Amino acid sequence: MEKMPTDEQEKKTSLNFIEAKVVEDLAEGKNGGRLQTRFPPEPNGYLHIGHAKAICLDFGLAARYGGTCNLRFDDTNPTKEDLEYVDAIKEDIRWLGFQWGHEYYASDYFPQLWDFAVRLIKEGKAYVDEQSSEEIAAQKGTPTRPGVESPYRNRPVEESLALFTKMNSGEVEEGKMVLRAKIDMANPNMHFRDPIIYRVVKTPHHRTGNRWYAYPMYDFAHGQSDFFEGVTHSWCTLEFVVHRPLYDYFIDELKEGKDLDDNRPRQTEFNKLNLNYTLLSKRNLLILVKEGVVNDWDDPRMPTLCGFRRRGYTPSSIRKFVDKIGYTTYDALNDFALLESAVREDLNATATRVSAVVRPIKLTITNYPEGKVEEMECVNNPEDPEAGTHRIAFSCDLWIEADDFMEEAPKKYYRMTPGQEVRLKNAYIVKCTGCRKDEQGNVVEVMAEYDPETRSGLPGADRKVKGTIHWLSRNHCLSAEVRLYDRLWQVENPRDSMAKIIEEQGCETINAMRQLLNPQSLEVCHSYVETYLSEAKPLEHFQFQRIGYFCVDPDSTPGHLVFNRTVTLKDSWAKVNK
Ligand code: ATP
Ligand code: MG
Repeated sequence: MEKMPTDEQEKKTSLNFIEAKVVEDLAEGKNGGRLQTRFPPEPNGYLHIGHAKAICLDFGLAARYGGTCNLRFDDTNPTKEDLEYVDAIKEDIRWLGFQWGHEYYASDYFPQLWDFAVRLIKEGKAYVDEQSSEEIAAQKGTPTRPGVESPYRNRPVEESLALFTKMNSGEVEEGKMVLRAKIDMANPNMHFRDPIIYRVVKTPHHRTGNRWYAYPMYDFAHGQSDFFEGVTHSWCTLEFVVHRPLYDYFIDELKEGKDLDDNRPRQTEFNKLNLNYTLLSKRNLLILVKEGVVNDWDDPRMPTLCGFRRRGYTPSSIRKFVDKIGYTTYDALNDFALLESAVREDLNATATRVSAVVRPIKLTITNYPEGKVEEMECVNNPEDPEAGTHRIAFSCDLWIEADDFMEEAPKKYYRMTPGQEVRLKNAYIVKCTGCRKDEQGNVVEVMAEYDPETRSGLPGADRKVKGTIHWLSRNHCLSAEVRLYDRLWQVENPRDSMAKIIEEQGCETINAMRQLLNPQSLEVCHSYVETYLSEAKPLEHFQFQRIGYFCVDPDSTPGHLVFNRTVTLKDSWAKVNK
């Protein structure tokens, strides 16, 4: 496991507003000087990079200030949840470099939540409503117009108690009855207008099976779970600002008036991560998986943590990115280029430099002795002298990148063109003498002559030429499948563009998505790599010189190597985006 992000953050001088509040609360001795947080995913999909922002805060601050962060699965909706997601979420949190204290499940609190609901009914603070969800919605009113009270609002306590029990018996159809908190149908905060706190769900739960048919709603589970566990700081995203009064209301009810001002969880909201050219939200990502737009949750084009992992992103690059964008109280759209620069910075320091020819064309050195092979020395990482060197075979039959040759080149083309000299990296200076074409006029082979005096590393070999290109010896390399990824979406804000299309065309989400997807998000190349990579292990990182950072795909086998492009060497989007 990598180092905890506490080390990465140590140098920071200014604290974000959430951290500043933690420092203040601890100094004041609030909650008995305890800091307890939680990360509360719903196991209805895989974690995405947005969750990393929440994770880094929940776990990072707890670790930094001597607190605990527990993992709590918010599993109150059995129709969407699954054990597969529970396991994947745990793996991804560990991969990011964090360790939770306890592993909790909201479903463990179903008995306590049930008892609490019964108590509210008995106290006249909740009632069973038999209206349809449409009727209930129609009575809600607007923020400026009070709602209409349900005809069931003042039904006898005994009746509600009996019906609540029935809701949990399996006899009641979904949608036929709900339990509502009886609060205030005229409250300017819509969440106080007799919110639904229990509903009937017939789908078996992945942990409790058919033990329950009545399930608590988010607002009746989240704050209470925080309270049961002793959470002190409950951080969530901005859409929950309007839920906070209800969060406090239920905790006040739970506490029954006991030392209200201390030892209670407090909710604070921060801005969600939104990334340009990226769509986050498990619901939408599930559609991409189910419709086969991507191969799976871990497709390297997916913004899931497992997708980033497979693509070659490092945990520390994700943590650094999250740290850089910070936490505020207003929404923003962050630049994907910032995440890319974080991973480049990381891999630049650690990735071994190798040669790979992604789109190959033959280069023949006509004056180099046939059959002769020389071993050239390559520096593994110029950023890290400790990384050492490895050897690569040179001969007269080479591969170079097709776009490193142009028969008629513009002035500033410093690569292979007839009459021009170029250095073959770690080898010789060669002069292009021409090319051979097939019947259709396509260049199939480039010819050059080498200068034996210019072997890299020899005294006097530092004659200057303007260009250096990479190469592989055709008889001393391995074929490999190289997967080049580009952004999945053509538009900067897929979420908003999708919503607009759905509104205008009244189409299904997937149809809106298809109008926005980048048809060139994956290009598979039949390429060559140096033999040094024959033993490369899944997820190992390399820099393919002059091309980008790549990692070994888990599909890779010694007989069929597969590499994923993590990121190009330079920011190729910047120009396009501006
Ligand atoms: P999604 O809509 O993608 O399913 P969610 O909020 O429903 O997201 P949860 O599993 O409920 O997902 O979220 C767990 C935690 O992660 C919550 O505290 C939530 O606020 C936080 N979170 C989710 N998405 C983001 C995001 N884009 N940026 C920051 N935090 C997020
Ligand atoms: Mg959710």
